[in-house]
Amino acid sequence: MTAATDVVVIGAGLAGLAAASRLVDAGAEVVVLEARERVGGRTLTLPAADGTPIDHGGQWIGPTQDRIAALADRVGVTTYASYEHGLNTEFRDGRAHRFDGQLPDGSDPVSAVAMGQAIRELDAMAARVPLEAPWTAADALVWDSQTVETWLQDRVSAERARNWLRAVIRGTLAAEARDLSLLHTLFVIRSAGGIAPLIATAGGAQERRFHGGAQTISIRLAESLGERVVLGAPAEVVRHGESGVVVEAGGRAVAAGRAILAVPPAIAGRIGYRPAMPGWRNQLTQRVPMGSVIKVHALYDEPFWRREGLSGLAVSDNGPVRIVYDNSPEDGSPGVLVGFIEGQQARTWARRNRADRRAGILACLTDYFGERAGRPRELLERSWADEEYSGGCYAGYFPPGVWTSFGQALREPIGRLHWAGTETATVWTSYMEGAVQSGERAADEVLAAS
Ligand SMILES: Cc1cc2nc3c(=O)[nH]c(=O)nc-3n(C[C@H](O)[C@H](O)[C@H](O)COP(=O)(O)OP(=O)(O)OC[C@H]3O[C@@H](n4cnc5c(N)ncnc54)[C@H](O)[C@@H]3O)c2cc1C
Repeated sequence: MTAATDVVVIGAGLAGLAAASRLVDAGAEVVVLEARERVGGRTLTLPAADGTPIDHGGQWIGPTQDRIAALADRVGVTTYASYEHGLNTEFRDGRAHRFDGQLPDGSDPVSAVAMGQAIRELDAMAARVPLEAPWTAADALVWDSQTVETWLQDRVSAERARNWLRAVIRGTLAAEARDLSLLHTLFVIRSAGGIAPLIATAGGAQERRFHGGAQTISIRLAESLGERVVLGAPAEVVRHGESGVVVEAGGRAVAAGRAILAVPPAIAGRIGYRPAMPGWRNQLTQRVPMGSVIKVHALYDEPFWRREGLSGLAVSDNGPVRIVYDNSPEDGSPGVLVGFIEGQQARTWARRNRADRRAGILACLTDYFGERAGRPRELLERSWADEEYSGGCYAGYFPPGVWTSFGQALREPIGRLHWAGTETATVWTSYMEGAVQSGERAADEVLAAS
């Protein structure tokens, strides 16, 4: 049976739901097709054994992320400040060093100066990347012809500073410096307003968390859209032409005037199109791989590290878990540490058996916070590369050469097909904010075309 509507949205992540809400507000008829049996996509909140909501996907929101804040506000989801008191930890040379402030540099002035210089240089270059069209930057070809790693080797002499910057990049994009086009990385930096907002807790991207978990926003948006959202409906074929589109999804067909595909480029490339996509779009979607991350949560009766004057933030250049934050609920009960296994570590450790991985994770936590950290009452992990309809996280990233050869294909509508998803955003791309911006922009495109 074929249902008919004005606009069919593929994907009920934040981008698709933001698009659908905007269209419904404007009086359009909408059907949202979601492959999974749940909404929220790369946000996923599940209860721990004691019921504590655990964010296995996106979780933090910070200043200038106004669209996701407005959307949360609209559905009554409130926020609280991330815990950020006490000393941070750098695990280096087999030992935990405690430090105050953002950069683990106190004892090594040469690395500190090198880091400061590199950050200033990257910020200055990023400021010259046009957000709507990164490939038109004056130096686009030079920057898109190298990886972040080659730039680091060329421009940053102190190895410790290089390592720290590799960690910043890995923590932001869940990919290695060697994977990433320098131009893409500059674009991501510019879209967030600089490196400082990307790495900071207070004043930056990790500043606040959502009561009840980030997926609550999508769940409530879907509730407000009611029967317009269809779960368990993976779009398999999109037929499109001058008179409209028909999407075939899990045994049903939806006919519409236009479609918004609110999925990452790599996932959009797996859908069939009739007629087929033009070569430039087809080749783009072959070239934007997803990042690699396993998100880990360790739960304790209390956040014991706080009493020892520690913030729970740890950075390390060793072992699977190289960045850890205090992720306890607002009232501090239970104590929760969240760790990220990113980039190459995620690729390696995802293939180990669970017992080995668990031992590796607990060894890291013990190194950073002592024996007690090695005995959580619950240890949870989620590898996003295993998710069929995400393919990895935090987002799709651009290796060298892709922006300058195929960048224009990222957002450009093809007939009646419009593209959304955080990868297509011009602000806070890769983040929830970018997802919302992209969905609202795609909805505006459709409304303007109708
Ligand atoms: C571990 C992790 C930590 C993160 N941390 C943060 C953070 O702290 N702050 C932040 O801002 N961001 C964070 N992010 C990123 C953030 O979650 C994403 O940028 C955002 O959720 C992307 O939303 P989206 O709507 O663009 O895409 P998605 O959420 O991927 O939505 C796409 C939807 O389309 C569906 N779909 C796929 N294929 C089909 C198909 N064929 N048919 C129908 N439906 C389909 C998917 O199931 C999914 O629901 C994190 C992500 C992860 C995984």
